[in-house]
Amino acid sequence: MKGTPSFGKMSKKVTHIKCRRCGRVAFNVAKGYCAACGFGRSKRMRRYSWQNKKWNRKRIK
Ligand SMILES: [Zn+2]
Repeated sequence: MKGTPSFGKMSKKVTHIKCRRCGRVAFNVAKGYCAACGFGRSKRMRRYSWQNKKWNRKRIK
């Protein structure tokens, strides 16, 4: 079965939980780090020059 019946299997495993540092649901349980801010991987925030996101309600330089 492909399509609609298969989508019911998508929420079986918890991959990401709420991150302690950034508050986003991006902390990977298996890998042990946050995909959004890099918590658990690096001490610094995961930021890139090419990304244009708001961080502390300000645009990241
Ligand atoms: Zn995070």
